[in-house]
Amino acid sequence: MQSEQSIVYWGQRMNITFLGAAKCVTGSSTMIEAGGHKILVDCGMRQGRDEKLLPMEAGFPYDPREIDAVFLTHAHIDHSGLLPLLVKKGFRGPIYCTGATARLCSIMFPDAGHIQEMEVEWQNRKRQRAGKPLVEPLYTVQDAVAATRYLRPVEYGDVVQALDNVKASFVDAGHLLGSASIELYIT
Ligand SMILES: [Zn+2]
Repeated sequence: MQSEQSIVYWGQRMNITFLGAAKCVTGSSTMIEAGGHKILVDCGMRQGRDEKLLPMEAGFPYDPREIDAVFLTHAHIDHSGLLPLLVKKGFRGPIYCTGATARLCSIMFPDAGHIQEMEVEWQNRKRQRAGKPLVEPLYTVQDAVAATRYLRPVEYGDVVQALDNVKASFVDAGHLLGSASIELYIT
């Protein structure tokens, strides 16, 4: 289910949409619309066998090309796992995260792509025998490697100018190596 909140913060209107949905592939993901930008905090994949094999049309409730930046709290797949799909579908902005998260994602994205390729191959052999239409992986190893090029590491405590009127700071959250709470300053 999507839920939407509109918050007026320091005189600025900000729309926040929680995108984790029962019948779509999205894990943890929140869209913030403010200061003329569309920003995602996390872009996770729902865990479970079926979800990995959904055709990519089941993807996003927004156009990935309209997202200006992503802020990633940590590397767990339920928070980061759809970033390669986001890039595959046209997202071309920066993905801000801590250095440790960037290093973990550089390993985990291709690994997730490999798992999907393997599972789809296995699934398609069965489907072919049963005369069923073949399925595509959400993304391949190659897509996953392409997505790692958009990772932009940020040090804990630094305030970065993420977009023209958006500053961000990553605070240690102690959940996983590299995990962070993210403070956004939107003007
Ligand atoms: Zn986690």
